[in-house]
Amino acid sequence: MSLIVQKFGGSSVSDAQGIKRVARRIIDTRAEGNDVVVVVSAMGDTTDELLDLANQLTDEAPAREMDMLLSAGERISMALLAMAIDGLGAKAASFTGSQAGVLTDSIHGKARVIEVSPQRVRRAIDRGYVAIVAGFQGMSKESNDITTMGRGGSDTTAVALAAALGADVCEIYTDVDGIYTADPRVVPAAQKIDTISSEEMLEMAASGAKILHLRCVEYARRFGVPLHVRSSFSTNEGTWVLPSPDDQIKIQEGEPLEQPIISGVAHDRSEAKVTIVGVPDIPGKAAQIFGIIAGAHANIDMIVQNISTSGTGRTDISFTLPMVDGKHVQEALRAAQADVGFEDISYNEKVGKLSLVGAGMRSNPGVSYTFFEALHQAGVNVDMISTSEIRISIVTDADKLDTAVRAVHAAFDLDAEQDATVYGGTGR
Ligand code: ADP
Ligand code: ASP
Ligand code: MG
Repeated sequence: MSLIVQKFGGSSVSDAQGIKRVARRIIDTRAEGNDVVVVVSAMGDTTDELLDLANQLTDEAPAREMDMLLSAGERISMALLAMAIDGLGAKAASFTGSQAGVLTDSIHGKARVIEVSPQRVRRAIDRGYVAIVAGFQGMSKESNDITTMGRGGSDTTAVALAAALGADVCEIYTDVDGIYTADPRVVPAAQKIDTISSEEMLEMAASGAKILHLRCVEYARRFGVPLHVRSSFSTNEGTWVLPSPDDQIKIQEGEPLEQPIISGVAHDRSEAKVTIVGVPDIPGKAAQIFGIIAGAHANIDMIVQNISTSGTGRTDISFTLPMVDGKHVQEALRAAQADVGFEDISYNEKVGKLSLVGAGMRSNPGVSYTFFEALHQAGVNVDMISTSEIRISIVTDADKLDTAVRAVHAAFDLDAEQDATVYGGTGR
């Protein structure tokens, strides 16, 4: 008997019919002789709707109350799903994140899992129940307050539970057939990938491919949890994210081991660009600035420092960060303006990031040329560039992002003949 953790995203449980479909699928998995633990997201666009509501009341919602509000979305779907399973004649019990033993740190809105003690979940499955856990939420180990783990965080709940329970596999059910070479909503000709290394998937997720939450991929890699991303609307085999290169080789036994050079193109519209203008060009200023940003708990992404304008002894430092952190990071920087001695801050949300990811980049010359030539041919102006061993990223105008993604995807011969299927969801 295997233990399978199945996570169903918001588009899979967007209405009563969807919840019933998911309930049947869970019962089928049990009928095949498996124990099942389910993690569920909020129905459809519930989380966005709750956020919109809060924003109509205040510009500065207290972080603790925001988490209390957002965690309610997952509680609705977990209880409804348990009822649907019960209605089909099987036993199910739902648990909030804290009841399931998901303990986190205290950073509201982006809490990190520190410990999972799933005794209640274990007891429920031992008694023949399907255990259903509310995704994306936990309880602060320090304050006992309810926390949430950031948008898309239910994926991480699923992997954290799979690791703590020693599950055989963690299945992530969503509204597309797996991980594609690009977001099929932007590139209809994107191709489904059969297997991807966790190393490449980490870069894709970190570059904004929201098919998987970044921390879910990190967690799965660290604890060796095999991830299978697939559609809840079809029975098609999805994409396997393989924790280590050895697994990749095992799966490919009998097939040529040559890896594709490029695994995909990711894009991200959720970041903003900040430029700190006229920073004194002396040792210690960058440390001071990034210390302030770290104090505001913001993760910054690309950083570019221009050479100082001759004679002024001053330079500009630009970086990108999640838009949601834009306001409080600007406030923290403004508060330290006199101390740091910079002249001004400019802030731009109309930017988009495009990333090309592939482990084969390491050993194949010419990738950068093909990439920048594709952008040139598509008339896309490059604003910032950053690279890792297996990734090239650029920032450009938000308006040009879709064109850029399609151009790069085509330039690396990734276009399929048939269009990908998007089964549901609003893409919000
Ligand atoms: P869920 O609600 O199931 O968690 P998400 O909306 O978080 O679903 O993630 C699924 C969506 O991710 C897809 O509908 C697709 O638009 C988007 N996506 C972005 N990049 C990719 C990619 N490389 N492959 C597949 N889907 C992608
Ligand atoms: N409901 C949360 C969100 O919309 C968490 C999740 O779906 O994973 O981001
Ligand atoms: Mg998601």
